[in-house]
Amino acid sequence: MRAQVQWLPADWRKIMSIIQERDKNFVAGTYKRFPVEIVSGKGSIVFDSDGKEYTDMGSGIAVTSFGVCDEEWVSAVAKQASAVQHMSNLYYTEPCGRLAEMLCEKTGMKKVFFSNSGAEANECAIKIARKYSSDKYGDNRYTIVTLKNSFHGRTLTTLSATGQEHYHELFKPLTPGFVYAEAGNIEELKKIAIENNAAGIIMECVQGEGGVLPIGEKFAKEAADFAKKNDIILIIDEVQTGNGRSGSLYSYMEYGIKPDIVSTAKGLAGGLPLGATLMSEKVQDVLSFGDHGSTFGGNPVCCAAACSVLSRIDEALLADVKKKSEYIFDALSGADGIESVSGMGLMIGIKTKKPAPEVVEKCMENGVLCLTAKDKVRLLPALNIPFEVLEKAIGIIKEACKEDC
Ligand SMILES: *Cc1c(COP(=O)(O)O)cnc(C)c1O
Repeated sequence: MRAQVQWLPADWRKIMSIIQERDKNFVAGTYKRFPVEIVSGKGSIVFDSDGKEYTDMGSGIAVTSFGVCDEEWVSAVAKQASAVQHMSNLYYTEPCGRLAEMLCEKTGMKKVFFSNSGAEANECAIKIARKYSSDKYGDNRYTIVTLKNSFHGRTLTTLSATGQEHYHELFKPLTPGFVYAEAGNIEELKKIAIENNAAGIIMECVQGEGGVLPIGEKFAKEAADFAKKNDIILIIDEVQTGNGRSGSLYSYMEYGIKPDIVSTAKGLAGGLPLGATLMSEKVQDVLSFGDHGSTFGGNPVCCAAACSVLSRIDEALLADVKKKSEYIFDALSGADGIESVSGMGLMIGIKTKKPAPEVVEKCMENGVLCLTAKDKVRLLPALNIPFEVLEKAIGIIKEACKEDC
């Protein structure tokens, strides 16, 4: 339904097709795009070039933590952009240190390395785990245990860390030194770690791309205890789960574990590229001068954006995230056409009887943007989505899941 078509220039179909044609001709064909161009928005509402309104239940894949064009966010970004937008890491800029201090104060971690994406935040984490181990134990202790069905990024090394064979197939040989264990099976994890003389374990508390599957508190705690006893570096990948999305600042806090390294990105800067690798006391001095670097990492505009985002993730907001999460679970669990609902906080996976892409398509038609993850419909709304907006979107999603719809 193109409800507001009368607002458009007479040749809107031609303009749209030119935009899509150009994109198809000149942008690498790695994404299957919907035939929709988003041009503007406010909070959780976005508009396409056709003037059609959508409720955004994907937040650019957990990136726009406070929605689109949020006033506070825009003002933090504009202020820094008009002061200095970039300097090399050879000089000090104020937002970088301010953000690192905020991250450390809020987590108890001791040092932060900034990069530009989730994959890079994980690369850094893996480098720290390997160097910690080689400094202390010599050359033959470097393997990282990762979980099957995990997702850690698209660079060759983070692809190797990703425990899903179909991502590996076309890009072999992979980076050596990764082995895969089943989430939930602690005995297998221990066995694999010992047999391979592991230096690190990397895991997501909720496997996002893997289908929005929480690994469970018991398994997370047992893995953390095991890692600690054996001086194996525990890396928690908070790229998707982090920055308030789980209902805690970071999802490991929901499980009461203490990682040695935390990686995060996506929602951290609310819509600008920023990755962060947080280091605990144990590993804070592993990287020294010249060991790692990034041209853009710690960019002042991205860091100013992240300071603004983090300063707003307080107890009240987190309580609200939990309340909205409960509402979604209650509204969807057991509904017509829905087999199960999984996730944590505002990171929700819906197993539908109909194929997930069909549900997403139907939702889009009816003005709600959703994502998929494996065979699930995935929801990652903005943390501050107004309750009435959420309610309306969930109503539309629920309707789209019905088998006769
Ligand atoms: C998205 C994601 C990544 C990769 O982040 P990029 O910014 O795309 O490099 C890594 N880990 C997890 C858990 C993710 O969800």
